[in-house]
Amino acid sequence: MRTFDIEQIRADFPILGREVNGRPLVYFDNGATTQKPKQVIDAITRYYADMNSNVHRGVHYLSQISTDAFEVTRRKVQAFIHAKHEHEIIITKGTTEAINIVASCYGRAFINAEDEIIISAMEHHSNIVPWQMLCDEKGCKLRVIPMNDRGELDIEAYKSLFSERTKLVSFTYVSNALGTVNPVKEMIDIAHEHDVPVLVDGAQAIQHVAIDVEALGVDFFAFSGHKMYGPTGVGVLYGKEELLNKMPPYQGGGDMIKDVTFEKTTYNELPFKFEAGTPNIEAGICLGDAIDYIESIGLDVIKDYEEELLAYATSRLSEIDGIRFIGTAAHKSSVISFVVDGVHPYDIGVILDKLGVAVRTGHHCAQPVMNAFDIPGTVRVSLAMYNTKEEVDILIEGLQRALRMLV
Ligand SMILES: *Cc1c(COP(=O)(O)O)cnc(C)c1O
Repeated sequence: MRTFDIEQIRADFPILGREVNGRPLVYFDNGATTQKPKQVIDAITRYYADMNSNVHRGVHYLSQISTDAFEVTRRKVQAFIHAKHEHEIIITKGTTEAINIVASCYGRAFINAEDEIIISAMEHHSNIVPWQMLCDEKGCKLRVIPMNDRGELDIEAYKSLFSERTKLVSFTYVSNALGTVNPVKEMIDIAHEHDVPVLVDGAQAIQHVAIDVEALGVDFFAFSGHKMYGPTGVGVLYGKEELLNKMPPYQGGGDMIKDVTFEKTTYNELPFKFEAGTPNIEAGICLGDAIDYIESIGLDVIKDYEEELLAYATSRLSEIDGIRFIGTAAHKSSVISFVVDGVHPYDIGVILDKLGVAVRTGHHCAQPVMNAFDIPGTVRVSLAMYNTKEEVDILIEGLQRALRMLV
């Protein structure tokens, strides 16, 4: 049994020791990005101090060790999400780029006029707009899985959206605006009964839930390094080998080619076909250190701790007069969105910031979710493994103080 030593974990994150506006930082904006442990920060410095060199190119020593380190990360990702092959792991800039690769390459090749793509009512803009752009280009159509007033997807309605024309399904594992955890396996199975491939946006899941892409049977899976204690500027597109092989490349350039002449270019094999140009090398390498860090603690242990914290925070917030939770699904993860009667979320955010408490306010890149609840935005508290009940108590005190000033 691994134990969860919160003091040790907090000590790993240097930024948690700083003050903001004269108060100890309380960081509850983990849904936007997580802080980084010193293991990741040190690895970034080590990369530049010890091995900086371009990857996949040189015969010289430094290029070989940086290439090896970059490829080690690919294998760590493969093991972390239980992919069958390492070449099914495409290193991208983040979730957004990963989804855009599928929209551009799969979409360009296999989705045509009048075809349909199913997404859900709770998607992040990065899982809406790439499909809309494809629809504008190709004349295909978006179908949207509706949700109920608790912020849960309507699975019966989802089933009824399928037709001969359905070519792809794309939805989020965990909603960044509501915290809803979707019944991913069931939804994938339903799509596969219709022989339709599925992309899952894992940006809010990868740091909270153990992922097994083979067991899920998911066709594409996307996530970002910076929301899982790793560097910004790196993320992953997992894709089934068979689908990736069928898809045309994304961008053209170095690394993604085998031979180039002015008459004809042949493309490199997977995964390099989708990795044109010099990648964010240091972020790619240090994503591996973030995975090591998470694994050294254990996602099972992290999940238990975060669930306890979510329950505590939800119950303490319920004490606030006039609070309305946005997103009350039976199955939730690490995100609490709320509004308070008669108070603008932004004003709450500003006062909390003065007290050193960082929360997110606004539409959280999910305007259709806000429209569905008929609100302009929410206050969002999103948790990470280094948050504590004491920090929740500071939030509650701050919130009570803010409301005394605002109501
Ligand atoms: C953050 C987020 C994205 C976009 O990730 P980037 O790192 O900005 O590319 C997509 N979907 C969800 C659910 C997110 O939370």
